[in-house]
Amino acid sequence: MKKEILIAQVILDHYHAKLDHLFDYLIPEHMQTLIQPGMQVTVPFGRNNRLTEAFVMSIKCRQKMDQPLKELAHISEEAYVMTAAQIEMVRWMKKSYLCRYIEGIRCFVPNHRTGKKKVIWVHCQLESEELAEQQIKMKRAPMQQKVLEALQEIRHAPLASLLKMTGAPNSAVKALAAKGFITISEEITRRNPFKDSVTTPYPEPRLTHFQERAMMLIRGHWEKKPEIPVLLHGITGSGKTEIYLQLIKRTLAQQQDSILLVPEIALTPQMVQRFRGRFGDQVAVLHSHLSEGEKLDEWGRIRRGEARIVIGPRSAIFAPCQNLGIIIIDEEHEHTYKSEQAPRYHATEIARQRCRLEKAQLLLGSATPSLESYHEAEHQKILLVELKERAAGGRLPQVEVVDLRKEAREGNRTLFSRSLIAALEHCLGKKHQAILLLNRRAFATLVMCPQCGYVAKCSQCDISMKWHRKERVLKCHYCGRREPVPESCPMCGELVSFQGAGTQKVEEGLQLLFPDHVVARMDQDVTRQKGSHQAILERFEAKEIDLLVGTQMIAKGLDFPNVTVVGILLADTSLNLPDFRAAEKTFQLMTQVAGRAGRGMQEGKVILQTFQPDHYAVHLSAIQDYHRFYQEEMQIRQRFLYPPFSRLIQVTFWSESEEAVAKAAHHSAAAVRFILEKSGYGEHLEEVMEPGPALIAKIENRYRYTLLMKSVKIPFHLMRKTVKYLLMDGRDRYISPMVTVTVDPDPR
Ligand code: ADP
Ligand code: ZN
Repeated sequence: MKKEILIAQVILDHYHAKLDHLFDYLIPEHMQTLIQPGMQVTVPFGRNNRLTEAFVMSIKCRQKMDQPLKELAHISEEAYVMTAAQIEMVRWMKKSYLCRYIEGIRCFVPNHRTGKKKVIWVHCQLESEELAEQQIKMKRAPMQQKVLEALQEIRHAPLASLLKMTGAPNSAVKALAAKGFITISEEITRRNPFKDSVTTPYPEPRLTHFQERAMMLIRGHWEKKPEIPVLLHGITGSGKTEIYLQLIKRTLAQQQDSILLVPEIALTPQMVQRFRGRFGDQVAVLHSHLSEGEKLDEWGRIRRGEARIVIGPRSAIFAPCQNLGIIIIDEEHEHTYKSEQAPRYHATEIARQRCRLEKAQLLLGSATPSLESYHEAEHQKILLVELKERAAGGRLPQVEVVDLRKEAREGNRTLFSRSLIAALEHCLGKKHQAILLLNRRAFATLVMCPQCGYVAKCSQCDISMKWHRKERVLKCHYCGRREPVPESCPMCGELVSFQGAGTQKVEEGLQLLFPDHVVARMDQDVTRQKGSHQAILERFEAKEIDLLVGTQMIAKGLDFPNVTVVGILLADTSLNLPDFRAAEKTFQLMTQVAGRAGRGMQEGKVILQTFQPDHYAVHLSAIQDYHRFYQEEMQIRQRFLYPPFSRLIQVTFWSESEEAVAKAAHHSAAAVRFILEKSGYGEHLEEVMEPGPALIAKIENRYRYTLLMKSVKIPFHLMRKTVKYLLMDGRDRYISPMVTVTVDPDPR
């Protein structure tokens, strides 16, 4: 019988678009029993057969060779081997996100070349008495003496720090090693990102009646329909975390792995502390600041099953759990779950796919579920479980809406309304603390009327227009529509104002109002430094700070019982973002930040300042009525055909030349329309919008244009396929090589 020929189909470890496909290599006989899909290999590539790293995606069998093939050179034995499920995920990601294979692969496989960092360690071999004795004897070798002295204290140390600490030369260490007093070894260290934080045990409380009921519902549901996810909708402080802990405990008891995603790990230190306090070292914490090496260390622990619980931000969804039991996504509505670089995945989507492939269960948790998730719950694609009471007792805070138009009419044009000042005075008088939110983003320049609250909006998109100071126009960043800047308000005739004030101004103002109290600020400018965020929170917890001012950073996950007042300085900042999700984001943010108040025994109070007190997102968040908000917002989404009534694809064009970028965008739009027309969708071409400058029209001297498509009648997969054609075969025809193109299916 003729021998079969085994061929490996590999993806090169290379980001070049032209290399983004499978290459065939012959598997030499001595490798045939060793090789398996998912392995990392080296292959000769190109004219001079340069050795290149690659990933085996599949292995095929042939009777004969159609053309001569090169042979695989080498199997990287130590490297991570992707599982079959992961390979399937990579293929699925490529198709869904129009990314490159390697971009998908790199989500699952850390880069081991830059990864493993070896450190030379020194270990003391002498008992402490012996050590003291030798130390005395060594008067004539003071450097060696110093090293021993240091080792008396610590016994083990990385060589580099030991030398630095003692000022001794390397030869002193070598001499000690020659005497057998110490040994030297090279090790891959596991650097625990939370090594400096003490873990205090977090004992298990008795579940409240409502938590108990929720647990029963969830477990009962998964016994019958394990493939259907659960949406846990629980008000802030309702004890969702305890539900997560208990579900994970059960998963652990079955020797299975859990992944818990949090919006941003640095913003949720209390969550991590609770998990470590309950499960100790079985928790692996992935951090977006981890170096590739640190990440590899943690991944090693996860893969070997030493750490069965993974907590991390969205990228932790790719953690190499070998026996996945459950994925939990906390605050599932958060925008941080969406990746802003290729592959532009949403963690929830990846989680669903993983759960399907690996037969694991999925729980989404939130106080303000995304409309998409709640919509699915309405249609029985997800099971909705609710928690309506606060777990530790205490009620939701009272919310007072302050109308800033009225405040202005009565002569107070500052950022601090009289109600807010009174509430803060009362709060500080009782030695309580307060949190103040101002969510100011740089591009939120908008035109509004301080008299009636009018905001300039696009008539076609229901999106606030952005003021372009230089060109003196208002632009809609969705449809490209331009309008002149009104001098006076079209509703009431008052002079319009251009909004813009930041957290810094608030901090200064507060300090003037309350000179005897400590004011601190937390926003990206302050917390860019590693660890400073944690430091501010620790000071706040220790009550060294009375008033904490911040951006949305302070809205998340904090549980400080001494906070009794929350001030929302200007709800309108997020309400007027040029984004169809602006109302939803505002509702979420208001609810989240209001939930920081009154978590202890004292009643909490929220002061919500706004120019638009009648906006449904404002007054419904004030009375914390999620359900009504959902219904109102869904009507608008339906009227303007935004998700979940459509699916969007956004193509972004980048170039240093504005002319080139505009041309590429317009040609692409025309090409897409042409193809869709040919496919029989000529009547629905309005689903391909007019391209225009992006929300941030220029970044680092590169102009950006976007082309937005709204799939309603035209099937989403057809749109996606058309865009794929545009990027691959059609690229040279429609898009100048000066222009970079990125695609975001389902932009957020
Ligand atoms: P959520 O995540 O829903 O906002 P948390 O899980 O942070 O709420 O819980 C809010 C507070 O209630 C925390 O301080 C937590 O320790 C406490 N808590 C949760 N469950 C219980 C319980 N069963 N008994 C007593 N306190 C609880
Ligand atoms: Zn518009």
